[in-house]
Amino acid sequence: MPQHTKYIFVTGGVTSSLGKGIISSSLAMLLQSRGYKVTIQKLDPYINVDPGTLNPYEHGECFVTEDGAETDLDLGHYERFLNTYTTQANNVTTGKIYQFVINKERKGEYLGKTVQVIPHVTDEIKRRIKLVGSKDKFDVVITEIGGTVGDIESLPYIEAVRQLKWELGASNTAFIHLTLVPYLASSGELKTKPTQHSVKILLENGIQPDVLVLRTEHSLSDDIRRKVSLFCNVSMDSVIESIDVSTIYEVPLLMLKEKLDITVLHKLNLSEGTKPDLTNWKQFVAKLKNPKKTVTIGLVGKYTELPDAYKSIVEALIHAGAVNECKVNLESIHSEDIDMADPDGKLGHLKGILVAPGFGHRGIDGKILAAKYARENNIPFFGIGLGMQCAVIEFARNVLGYSDANSTEMVRHTSHPVIDLMESHKGITEKGGTMRLGSYSCVLKKKTKAYEAYGKPEIKERHRHRYEFNDEYLDSFEKAGMLATGVNPDTGLIEIIEIEKHKWFVGVQYHPEYKSTVLNPHPLFVAFVKSTLSQ
Ligand code: GLN
Repeated sequence: MPQHTKYIFVTGGVTSSLGKGIISSSLAMLLQSRGYKVTIQKLDPYINVDPGTLNPYEHGECFVTEDGAETDLDLGHYERFLNTYTTQANNVTTGKIYQFVINKERKGEYLGKTVQVIPHVTDEIKRRIKLVGSKDKFDVVITEIGGTVGDIESLPYIEAVRQLKWELGASNTAFIHLTLVPYLASSGELKTKPTQHSVKILLENGIQPDVLVLRTEHSLSDDIRRKVSLFCNVSMDSVIESIDVSTIYEVPLLMLKEKLDITVLHKLNLSEGTKPDLTNWKQFVAKLKNPKKTVTIGLVGKYTELPDAYKSIVEALIHAGAVNECKVNLESIHSEDIDMADPDGKLGHLKGILVAPGFGHRGIDGKILAAKYARENNIPFFGIGLGMQCAVIEFARNVLGYSDANSTEMVRHTSHPVIDLMESHKGITEKGGTMRLGSYSCVLKKKTKAYEAYGKPEIKERHRHRYEFNDEYLDSFEKAGMLATGVNPDTGLIEIIEIEKHKWFVGVQYHPEYKSTVLNPHPLFVAFVKSTLSQ
């Protein structure tokens, strides 16, 4: 193992959304399978302190770590590929950097000095990068720089990693640049010019990439590879093809074939390590690509136009589908599109209904109706966060007869606040980082769907919410058949509800989707998909 932590910096060029996160995750997974301890960090150039206050339409889902950080959705990929947890330190934003630097300035810690982007901001960026390496003694830290080279806002990051090469030593750092090689259908050609320009921008900023990963629709010929090698100053074997594939989980296998891991290890003066054993991973991909059956599940939410808004849920269902050897045909249903008079139209053909997490009252009626439809028609139901709360509201209104039952998030002064703020949260007005966040314990009741799925009496799951099931109503709910089957042992907060006399009706206040990985698909998702398969 290396004496010093090695650092790999991943930048992107030409266009956004090329999949830097997936390439970083794939490389990390391959290095991990060769025996190295690896982690990945994301640097985000926006000024929000964290993505917690962002609308999912902006950057997709907000991913929550064990230690309660609200982070970029790429951290979800890192965890799903590496099967290890990330932390607060794995996601840095420009907002965080500036907040820190400005607070330091106010405390007088730069007294007498003009505080500037270089060196003060870049120094803080460098400190954050090195911090990840120092903590858990990682052999390799992969740092992904968000955005595209040439963006004004990512300049301080590029400058910081340029400096790090000389601070840490050239053999302790490697630069990977991901670009696009577009295909021009009219001439039937792949074009390398955008890549050449992108590398030129990096060079202008003082960085010579060591490895180029080229995203392409068609295989790269040797001629193309040679051309890129000559014009971008990299050796032929450092020109890596990343061809479009049907599932992101195939990318590590492609990168292995392209020897991305070996090329990077040589650059870092590291041995090739143990021979990677990807048997389990390959089995998973094989199951994914050869399903024996298909099941249609509805995902009822309000950000359905953007698939990234529910990234971890979508991925968790993919993992669970593979375990059940079936393809989950996920139908996104906008909760505002469900016809109150004719819910059959949108919901009638579904074998399972998942009501998504969310905030605010828009689209709430459709979510409540979806829960009612699932309950009355004995269709497997999975409610997450707000989805669970909607199931509770629905049950209170239509089974307990509290016609105005609601969450105080929607109607502050309802006479039956079945979902309400915790006492400790009343009076908090600030928005950033003020929710119940991160991992909490939950004790499961025996002989329940939850217990059956998890197969153990105590679990830990991640939270991100303000409102809770109001336990003043618990007795009435339980008498009528909706049970609290998972409770936080320290606070008594109700984390799971189930309907006893139903095929599979489970609502969870927490977010199980964050913990589903390729090698450890989440038990609740697996059980939910399984329940949709049995007649
Ligand atoms: N808006 C709800 C709350 O804050 C639910 C959030 C969620 O779905 N995680 O409690």
